[in-house]
Amino acid sequence: MDDVSPAGRGRRTGALCTTALGAAAATALSCAVTAGPGTALAARRPPVWCKPGGALSARAMPQKVRMSDCDLRGRVVRGENGLAAAVPSDGTSVTAHALGTDGASELRIRVDERKGEVTVTTVGTRVPQGRPRQFRAPLDPCKDGTYQREPSKWPKGATIEWHYYAGTAGLPMSGVSTGISNVFNAATDCNSARKFTPPPDVSEKYAGETGTAPNVTTEATCGDRDGTNVSGWEAMPAAEPEILAATCTWYRGSTTIESDTALQAQGKKWWPGPQDGSSCPAGSYDAAAVTTHEAGHMLGLGHVEGSQHSALTMAPTVAACVDDPATLGKGDYDGLIALYGGRTSTA
Ligand SMILES: [Zn+2]
Repeated sequence: MDDVSPAGRGRRTGALCTTALGAAAATALSCAVTAGPGTALAARRPPVWCKPGGALSARAMPQKVRMSDCDLRGRVVRGENGLAAAVPSDGTSVTAHALGTDGASELRIRVDERKGEVTVTTVGTRVPQGRPRQFRAPLDPCKDGTYQREPSKWPKGATIEWHYYAGTAGLPMSGVSTGISNVFNAATDCNSARKFTPPPDVSEKYAGETGTAPNVTTEATCGDRDGTNVSGWEAMPAAEPEILAATCTWYRGSTTIESDTALQAQGKKWWPGPQDGSSCPAGSYDAAAVTTHEAGHMLGLGHVEGSQHSALTMAPTVAACVDDPATLGKGDYDGLIALYGGRTSTA
C-alpha cells in the first residue's frame, strides 16, 4: 500500500473538498467517498496551498515541502515584497534577491532531489517610516565587521566570466562594470590606497556583450538559467514598482554555478556614478552602487539587517544619489575573505 502519513490531514478534508478541488467530478466523488481521515485517497490529494497554475505563495506553504506532497519543481514561488523564483528542475537550487527603493527581499529555494524535499526561506525588509524604536546609529563602515553568508559561493580561485546586456533603454555600461569590479577588487574609501588588500581569491572576466537578457523575467522573477552569467539593463514592466534590481544565483551543493543581475531599465532614473565625472540628477539611483551590492550577492554575501549596519554595502537599503555602497566597508570585505581567502598573486 502507499506510504501515507495522514496526520493533520483529516481535519482539513472538508476544506479540500470545497475550496481546492471543485473542478473535477472524479475528485468530488473521492471527497465524498474518503471523507474519513487517514485513507489513501485523501492522503494523495495535494495540500490546499498547492493549487495548479500560477505562482505559489511561500507564506502559505510549510518551509520544507516534500515533493510527494507537492512537486514544486518548475513552479514559481513568491516570497516577500513581490520577489519570486522558478523552482529549478535541473537539480540546482536558487537564491533570489531584490533591492528596492523601500527595502529588499531574499528568497532561498533549496532543492534536494535525493531527499525529495524543497526548502523555501523568505525574508523581506522594508525601510520603516520615521525612526523605528530599535533605531541604532550607523556604525563606522570602516570598523563594522558584520557580514552574512549565502548558502553558496564560487570555488576559491575561480574566474567568473560575465556578459553585459545593454537592453534597449540606452543606459550606459560604466556603472555596471564599475560595480562588479569594485567587489572583486575590494574597492573602499577606508584607506588611502582605496582598496582593501589582499583582494578576495576570486576574479571576474568581462566576456563581452550578449543579446540574451539575464534569466530574470519581466516580473523580476528568477526564471530558468541558461549557463551564462549576465548583468545589465532589463525592462521589467511587471515587477513591483519599488524594485531597482534583482539578482538570481543558482547552485549545486554549496557551489555557485551561475548568477544573473537585472537592473530595472524601465520607470527608474539612473546615474552611472561619480566615476564619469557627472553629478547625480535628483531622484536617480547610482548604478555602480546598486551593482556593487548585487555583485556582493553574486559572490555569496547576504544582507546585514539592522540600522547600525546601514553604512555597509550589503545593508538592504539604498537611497537616491548616494554612492557610498559602491565601495566596501570592513564587513563587506571580511565576508569576501571568509568566503574566498585572500588572492596571493595580482597577476
Ligand atoms: Zn540585496
